[in-house]
Amino acid sequence: MRIIFPLDKQGGAAWAQSRGLIPQSGDWDHPARWVTREKLPKPPLPSAPSRPMRDRLASLISFEAGVSEARKEKLLQWMEEKNLPLSHLSGVDRIRLYEGSHEGRPGGAHVVGTYIHGNIHLWQEAGGPDLMHEIGHSIHLTKGLLPTSTLERLTKAYENATKNDEGFPSQYAKKNEKEFVAECYAVYMQFRDNLERRNPEMGAILATVMEDLDRASAT
Ligand SMILES: [Zn+2]
Repeated sequence: MRIIFPLDKQGGAAWAQSRGLIPQSGDWDHPARWVTREKLPKPPLPSAPSRPMRDRLASLISFEAGVSEARKEKLLQWMEEKNLPLSHLSGVDRIRLYEGSHEGRPGGAHVVGTYIHGNIHLWQEAGGPDLMHEIGHSIHLTKGLLPTSTLERLTKAYENATKNDEGFPSQYAKKNEKEFVAECYAVYMQFRDNLERRNPEMGAILATVMEDLDRASAT
């Protein structure tokens, strides 16, 4: 927009009208400035579709030198495709991407991701499914995020799976209750039918978890 007269050279509404000017503010009594008709700012275009989850996730991710922006972009896109609800990020404070491989743990376990007190760390090999797994930990382990009743149902479901030796979505899910919950969550978010078939009890509980998170984020 171009302002055509300095303020001190401008007169009142009649002065403006005689020159074909209109108030910049839209208010003839408080015009701010007089501007030519065609120079009025255009109404803003409808904004790009709001993508709160993507924006939130992008703000959580940081990476060490050497990690490419493309890797972050890939994770964002992957989570978008899986329709991760914004409320599922409530327990995550920070996601850090590393260039190299994790040092490994005693016993030679190959670690691609960890979750520790709100912080997710992802090493080079980690992709979307690994991030989903760690988000599962954050939902399960963040104090106060899930109601006690839901946490108790998760414990019971793990006990049932162990007792009957069935309903595990992966070998790794047999490790302990935490990994069981994170693995079930990750599979549920990617292949819901698959998890519901393999472990109907967990399918039902995770549906409740979705509702719990929605409710928690709405308050
Ligand atoms: Zn895990």
